[in-house]
Formats: sequence, structure tokens, C-alpha cells
Amino acid sequence: MQLSTRLTGLTGGGSDGWDVFRRSRAMIAAGTSVIELTQGEHDIRTDALILDEMHRSARAGNTGYAPVPGTDVLRDAVAARVQRLTGVATNRDNVVITPGGQAALYACHIGACDPGDTALFIDPYYATYPGTIRGTGAVPHCIRARPEHGFQPQAGDFADAPDARSLLINSPNNPTGVVYTEDTLAGIARHCLDHDMWLISDEVYDTQVWNGRHISPRALPGMADHTLVIGSMSKSHAMTGSRIGWIVGPAKAIENLINLATHTTYGVPGYIQDAALFALQQGDPLQDEIAAPFLRRRAIAERVLKSSGVLTAVPCDGAMYIMLDIRATGLTGEAFANALLDHEHIAVMPGESFGRAAAGHLRVAMTVEDTAFESALTRLVHFAERTAHAA
Ligand code: PMP
Repeated sequence: MQLSTRLTGLTGGGSDGWDVFRRSRAMIAAGTSVIELTQGEHDIRTDALILDEMHRSARAGNTGYAPVPGTDVLRDAVAARVQRLTGVATNRDNVVITPGGQAALYACHIGACDPGDTALFIDPYYATYPGTIRGTGAVPHCIRARPEHGFQPQAGDFADAPDARSLLINSPNNPTGVVYTEDTLAGIARHCLDHDMWLISDEVYDTQVWNGRHISPRALPGMADHTLVIGSMSKSHAMTGSRIGWIVGPAKAIENLINLATHTTYGVPGYIQDAALFALQQGDPLQDEIAAPFLRRRAIAERVLKSSGVLTAVPCDGAMYIMLDIRATGLTGEAFANALLDHEHIAVMPGESFGRAAAGHLRVAMTVEDTAFESALTRLVHFAERTAHAA
């Protein structure tokens, strides 16, 4: 039977960017020990106290259908968090709970675009972005941020952008670790206001900022009515497997997105929502504890990379990744990542997995224990030096 082209064309025909990751998993399955610095997955598990609350809630009977928009108490807690961080008046009518940030990305594009409309996003990008947009029937079009601008999109980068209904941004950024400055965000907001477009702001790394400060563009003048903010418990609370996140936006948009949830996901399990509420109620101390290993490893990476005459790092101001410029080795990111996997049994993501703007770069996830991270990064640096000298 024939499948829809929307489904079969989801990844756009090319690689989905996960080839090195899959090869590393196959090597591990065959018994080889590989250090994986690929996925954005913490090396700690969800805190036992959060799991206790999940268990308590499930045992108390919250295993039936939960309220589709999210429980009132959780929506209130998310609204309070967002209002505290942004200063923008927010209440539960501005919040819908989703099964993770990924479901929120899909829902926001359904909300902003009709089939055939153009949806803009910034390259380098989180690997699922173009497929998510295609999945909604919209047409993805990327705006290239440039390494020479520290991967901060500039007003000029939008000059040739086609008419579009939405622009998707992500700060703190995966894969670059860049945090958008006030100037960058003001330029982006200007573009959205001038073109009457939705800004879809993926802020799933908002608790992982090492330098500067996270600014939510929803807080910029005139933007609250134009912005859909995506949040998630995955990165902030090491709850990747629980699949819980949210969208914050204008009440009318949220009302319609709740209707979408009724017809797609039908909400998030009640015991997961209760666990998320408990986690949010722990406030900054828990979030800081979960973010702390990445801050430590960022310092380790700075120390290790200082000695390299071949590699340079994009300043890592947020998120759990370091992006390395390996162009001086003469290899593409893909060739380097494959060779590193073969020779050193270290798996990293080629920059090309995240679009064309990050070609000749590697994304290194800081997701293994400190000593192993330092040793893997040191071996990566030596490998780059040997490769550059051989070239
Ligand atoms: N956005 C970005 C930028 C991400 O890196 C991720 C996950 N790696 C997501 C969204 C989706 O996260 P989740 O669905 O786990 O909330």
C-alpha cells in the first residue's frame, strides 16, 4: 500500500544526520567499548525523589486519562516559572502541557503554518527541525548563521528570506552552545514583527547558561502576541524519558493547541505531570545541581583545548555541547567523526548533521563523567593534531 509523501519524505531524502551515532551503537552491540559524546542525554538518571513522587501519584490512582491541557496545578507552576524568568504576565491559559519539547515543536508548526507555507529555521539546527516542519505539511527554509559571526544570526542573514509564517530559533543553542545576545534577539523580533510572523522559540536549555543570560524573546516589546515558547523538563530536570514539556503563548493560540492535543496526543500521563510539578517545586537548587556537571566539563574542555594549535572551540555559553572547528585538519566533520570512531572509539556528532553552516565542525556532548570526558577530549585533540600533520 502506498504511504503518504508527507511521511516518506519526512527526512527530505538525505541522511537524518545520525549515521555516526548508529555506527557507534552497532560497534557497542558487537562488544567494542566506545565513548559516546553524541546524544544530549545526561549521564545521571532522573532524581530518585522525582521517581518517588511519580510512583506515589500512580499508586494514588493517577493512571487514567489526565486533563488534556495539563493539570491546573502544573499549568500554574509553569506559568509562574515563565513569569518569574521573563517578567511577562503569564497564567494557566497561556500554557499547554505536551509530551516533551519535540511534540511541542510539531504542534507549534501546525499552529503557525498551513500546508505549503514556508517555515524558517536557523542553520545550524537541532537535527529534527526540518523533518518536524515537513511533517506538518509546511516547507522548511533555513537561514544560515555564520561561524564568523559566532553563529549569532544577523539582520543581513534574513535579507533574502522568502515570505514565511514562522521562524524557529533555539537559544541556548543545540548544537553550537551559543546563547543569543540581546542584539541578536532584537533583530529577530524586528523581522517577525515587520513580516507579521510567528516566532517559535525553543528554550529547552534555558537552565543551562554559563555566560551572559538567557533572554526569552517573548519578553521583548510587542512579542508576547507573536511568540510560542517551547519548554521541556528533559534537560532541566534530567527527565528525557518522561516525555514532558510545554508551549507558552497567547491564550487564543493555546486554546487551539489544546484542541490539537485532544486530537493527537490526548495529553500526558497524570503521574508524569505530578512528578514534573514536584520537580519544578524544588526550584533552582535542583536545576542547578542537574546543570552543574556541564559547567564543570566546560571548564575541563577549556583547559584541554587551550593547548591545541589545530582545534578551536566556539565559545560555549550554554547547553550541554561544545562545538569544535576542525577545518584546520583538512577533513570534513563527517570524515573526522568517522575516523575518530574507527581509530579512537570515540563517537561525536559531525557538524554536517546539523546543517551546512556547521560543516567542518564537530559537536561534542559533555555527557560522560568528568575523568572520562577529559581523557576522551584529550585523545580527540591529539588525533586532530596527528591528522593535521599527516595532511
Ligand atoms: N529542542 C532541542 C534544541 C533539543 O536539543 C531537544 C532534544 N535534544 C528537543 C528540542 C526535544 O527535547 P524533548 O522532546 O526531550 O523535550
